[in-house]
Amino acid sequence: MQNECQLCQKSQNLQDIHVTTGSGSFSGNVTVCGECQNAMNDLEKSDEYFRLLEGAIYVPDEATQILSYRLLERLREQGWAAQILESLYIEPEVLAWAKDAPKEGAASAQTTVDAHGTPLQTGDTVTLIKDLEVKGAGFTAKRGTIVKNIRLTDDAKYIEGKINGSTIVLVAAYMKKSV
Ligand SMILES: [Zn+2]
Repeated sequence: MQNECQLCQKSQNLQDIHVTTGSGSFSGNVTVCGECQNAMNDLEKSDEYFRLLEGAIYVPDEATQILSYRLLERLREQGWAAQILESLYIEPEVLAWAKDAPKEGAASAQTTVDAHGTPLQTGDTVTLIKDLEVKGAGFTAKRGTIVKNIRLTDDAKYIEGKINGSTIVLVAAYMKKSV
């Protein structure tokens, strides 16, 4: 664990992401901040946030380069990402590792985080930070509602919790972890 995000140099809510290759030829960690983790969990909506990869892909750390490359590949449809990839000059060995993503295809082990990038675990208590219309159940869960004993789901963007006796799927980014 570094003391700052290896992608953007912020130091809030740091956590390590494990980076490996399908063939097991490389294994390393990248320390990322909560904001970058949030953006990774919601890559389609990250817009130009990851333009910062233009710098990160050249830091002298192989794991950071691999993670940056894989994120850029997933962002390729956005013209700016394609441009960075087209003019890329990184070590052939690093490039080969970057292209050899593990089967799940994930650039990272996704971590479920709340609105502030704080990691969430099954059993945590969270507070809603905005009113949420609960489709199907016919009520609105008010901002400030406390949801106890949440469960993580397969998708890092969502958690499950009970409100008014109904178990519903909630967007993790609209939650704040209670301490
Ligand atoms: Zn960051």
